[in-house]
Amino acid sequence: MVYHITAKILKGRDVSCREASELYLGKTSLFDLMWAANTIRERFKKNRIGFCSVVNAKSGLCGEDCKFCAQSVHHKTGVRRYPLMPQDEIVMAAKQARDNGAGCFGIVTSGRAITDKEEIMNICRAVRKIRKKLPGLDCALSLGILDKASLDMLKSSGALRFHHNLETSRKYFPRICSTHSYEERLKTLKAARSAGFKICSGGIFGLGETRPDRLDLAFTLRELKVDSIPLNFLHPIKGTALEKAKPMSPAEILRVIAIFRIIHPKKDIKVCGGRVVNLRRFEPMIFFAGANGMMIGNYLTQPGQDPAADLEMVKDLGLKIV
Ligand code: SF4
Repeated sequence: MVYHITAKILKGRDVSCREASELYLGKTSLFDLMWAANTIRERFKKNRIGFCSVVNAKSGLCGEDCKFCAQSVHHKTGVRRYPLMPQDEIVMAAKQARDNGAGCFGIVTSGRAITDKEEIMNICRAVRKIRKKLPGLDCALSLGILDKASLDMLKSSGALRFHHNLETSRKYFPRICSTHSYEERLKTLKAARSAGFKICSGGIFGLGETRPDRLDLAFTLRELKVDSIPLNFLHPIKGTALEKAKPMSPAEILRVIAIFRIIHPKKDIKVCGGRVVNLRRFEPMIFFAGANGMMIGNYLTQPGQDPAADLEMVKDLGLKIV
């Protein structure tokens, strides 16, 4: 079955929901899944790997109640709280990201949305400076639930991507957040697409969702025709509602990456939060499970590992950073 489906995907046809379910929910071994995912990655992404990096440009004090998030006011995590960073600090973080090898730099703010016009203007100014000073670096924005007018304004700054995760399946979402809806997230993504952004949207796994929830998320993202898919794996933070969640095993994480590659053969699949802490010595396997990118440097509220170690890992595997 796995060979037949892989051959079909290599010919440019999509895996059906029934086939993906048989692969992911059935008895296909991890090694067969990874063989399929790696074959597909090599065909459509060659040996090219992309790094992205983010700055937490506004931290803490978010009124939303996402159960996994250290920045929610509903949790007591001791996370740093600060208003929107000055433009020059954002530009400095972008330079650091570029020097570390990132090809895409994300400006992320906590909170339901950036609505203050002055803040939006400041983010636009920061993006313009980055585009001017660091021309090879793509800019992504992750600013919450926004309307078309704000998105149009932000797009005019020269930012390439808008990032907004769906997090999980539509069915499971109300179990992880009660202060906004899945529909609002979908609406933001559609508005960002119509404003001209490339869309970056994925999810976080290990929240207590089932395997069918993960498949559901993968197919919703396929319907949305997202351009890149960040995959995060819960690193339970003390003080959050999910502080006692059981971390996913490396094998289960690799299965998730592989099925996302099989469902999204040509998209960019990036492994982001939870990579280092959850995968440990299995980190290099993400590429053989189908990923063609990863986040480097610090995460939003947690330190990452030395970017030089990530660079070395990719080079040691004979892969090429783009
Ligand atoms: S909206 Fe964003 S910053 Fe706020 S709690 Fe949810 S994930 Fe955290």
